[in-house]
Amino acid sequence: MPEKRKKPLPDEVDEDVKRHKPEQAEKENEKEDWFKGSVYPRVSTVEAADRMDANNPLELLESALKKQGGPEAVSDAGESVVYWMNMEDMRLKDNKALSKASAYANKNKLPLVVLFPISPGDYKSHDRSARRIDFMLRNLRSLKTSLHELEIPLLQFIHPTRKTLPNRIIQIVGSPGIKARHVFANLSYEVDELNRNRAVLEQGADKRIWVGFEHDRCVVPPGGVKKKGTGTGAYTVYSPWFRQWGSMIHEDPSLFDEYPNPQPNPKGTLESFSANASGDNKDLLKDIPDYIEGFQLDKTDAEQMRAVHPGGEHAAERVLEAFFHTKSSSKKLGPVRPFEDDDEVVKKGNSRVEVYSDERDRADRNSTSRLSPYLTSGVLSPRQILTHVLKFSGKKTVPVDKKDGVGNWVGEVAWRDFYNHILAAFPRVSMGQPYNVKYRGVQWETDPELLEAWKTGKTMNAQGWMHNRARMISSSFLTKHLLVDWRLGERYFMNQFIDGDLASNNGGWRKSMSSSCLVQKTGSDPQPYFRIFNPTTQAEKADPTGEYIKHFVPELRNLKGKALYDPYGHLSPAEFKKLGYPMPIVDHKKARERAIERYKNPGVKPDESADGPTQDDIKVSNNVKPKVKKSPAGLESFGFISKA
Ligand SMILES: Cc1cc2nc3c(=O)[nH]c(=O)nc-3n(C[C@H](O)[C@H](O)[C@H](O)COP(=O)(O)OP(=O)(O)OC[C@H]3O[C@@H](n4cnc5c(N)ncnc54)[C@H](O)[C@@H]3O)c2cc1C
Repeated sequence: MPEKRKKPLPDEVDEDVKRHKPEQAEKENEKEDWFKGSVYPRVSTVEAADRMDANNPLELLESALKKQGGPEAVSDAGESVVYWMNMEDMRLKDNKALSKASAYANKNKLPLVVLFPISPGDYKSHDRSARRIDFMLRNLRSLKTSLHELEIPLLQFIHPTRKTLPNRIIQIVGSPGIKARHVFANLSYEVDELNRNRAVLEQGADKRIWVGFEHDRCVVPPGGVKKKGTGTGAYTVYSPWFRQWGSMIHEDPSLFDEYPNPQPNPKGTLESFSANASGDNKDLLKDIPDYIEGFQLDKTDAEQMRAVHPGGEHAAERVLEAFFHTKSSSKKLGPVRPFEDDDEVVKKGNSRVEVYSDERDRADRNSTSRLSPYLTSGVLSPRQILTHVLKFSGKKTVPVDKKDGVGNWVGEVAWRDFYNHILAAFPRVSMGQPYNVKYRGVQWETDPELLEAWKTGKTMNAQGWMHNRARMISSSFLTKHLLVDWRLGERYFMNQFIDGDLASNNGGWRKSMSSSCLVQKTGSDPQPYFRIFNPTTQAEKADPTGEYIKHFVPELRNLKGKALYDPYGHLSPAEFKKLGYPMPIVDHKKARERAIERYKNPGVKPDESADGPTQDDIKVSNNVKPKVKKSPAGLESFGFISKA
């Protein structure tokens, strides 16, 4: 056994570097600054996050709502009723707050008005992608057409300062021409949104305006799936949570009853509304902007997004239908339309949803529904999905058995509920703090080049959406192989994807860095820190035909067998050189050892840990073709980026 290299103590390193290599020391400082600047402004202190958990904002809002009472608490019915729509509930069908607002307006013979605030400050602070904002505007245009058919005015405005948004909303609601006394909205579970909602409620109360919020995002509202005999009752492990969630929807199918569509306003409402609008309110009726400053897509990307993720409720329903009635195909990879008239329609038993149990992890086929952009923006509701599932299955209850394709898919849709429940019960997760507090101290690498190299992953950037398996593999690669802070990856996904959703994205990243809520009491965590994806075997499983790699990495198109997944490890140096393909960025085996060392000893700085490998140790040498298997260059398509 070769003797292990003894590491110098950290102080020795610093002094040595400072004295003899001032440029290197300067560079190290720059890296540290970059890292702090990129991550830490967004991460709350541990104390602040703990305080937030202790003063749960959803509970505070719910108790304020209880104190306020129902809409009858404000007896003056006003001159109109407002439904305040947000970017998470962009549909007319099965929209709880909209439905209730419409019923209330009808009962009081008042016109219904829809208010949509555009809040760039919130989008920036939540790392919304330009793609998601573009999708929001496209859906808003489609909604405007549908609302106008019902004679319902859509009032929209851009409000740049997020802090003063509550004030602006209440001011508009009470302004001449609108004069509403009742506002209905759906709940969001992010900390900032909950606090904003409470501010709107309080400022409304000062002006005798009633503001009600509805649980609409999940099938079972947060807090609805409870462990018996515990403090908050919130589950932190998915499997028992899902068993109870499944029983609940079986025992009480009204949980996914759809809410009635909004009723039309009396004829002429639109005309008289715009005739009576005065002052600033005239602007509320203006055309929906083409883009929002700071969130503009370039023309090519905008066109591609329109084709791949068409907006509107009708498009969402077609994507859902296609998943239930068409066959999976390897031709539907990359930025392609989610449904086409010539899609192969199949008989019962063979559709994508029915073979989901077998194919869901296949990245080389369109094995999943691609409904996430619609669910995230609320263009389709999870209740609509369960209603569709029940009808399709022809059974008495919604299937939840994982062996059954449809049941397995329902289990995935439930993950979305689960992560929202976690977000609502443990708000610290949306403040940059891991759920599993023991991983607060993991020491991350601070080399910006690693993150930049990872970011060039081709699927991540191409279509604004990525297969779940690819998300899992690439997030694991960043947080384990490269040991880059998960929060940087979390933010990058949000900035890239059209379906960027705080609860699911955060949940996915926490799971990848082993700080999910999945730590079981027995200690058997489904994703413990020492279970580190082997990129080669993962790629072989997710892409057995190689179509996915060939699609996204054309340089490797002509390779066969193992060489396709690991060209560096399976080709001769001359053959590899001829490919013109970059070197692998890390050695899998060594990177794995380093990750285990680092996760096992959270809080221990790399140089202090016994003999764990350093960043230089795990790099693949440019000159020597190593005997051990390397992290495969061919997995660029999965986000395993190689450096030239
Ligand atoms: C690191 C990471 C980040 C992620 N970020 C997001 C995100 O920002 N937005 C997002 O919607 N999903 C996210 N997911 C979950 C999942 O990858 C996507 O929901 C899924 O790939 C969307 O494709 P689909 O609609 O074809 O899914 P399908 O397999 O058809 O599933 C149907 C729906 O169920 C829900 N769903 C499925 N799997 C999950 C899951 N693991 N967690 C939560 N909900 C799920 C989604 O709403 C999805 O649209 C992330 C996963 C990981 C590992």
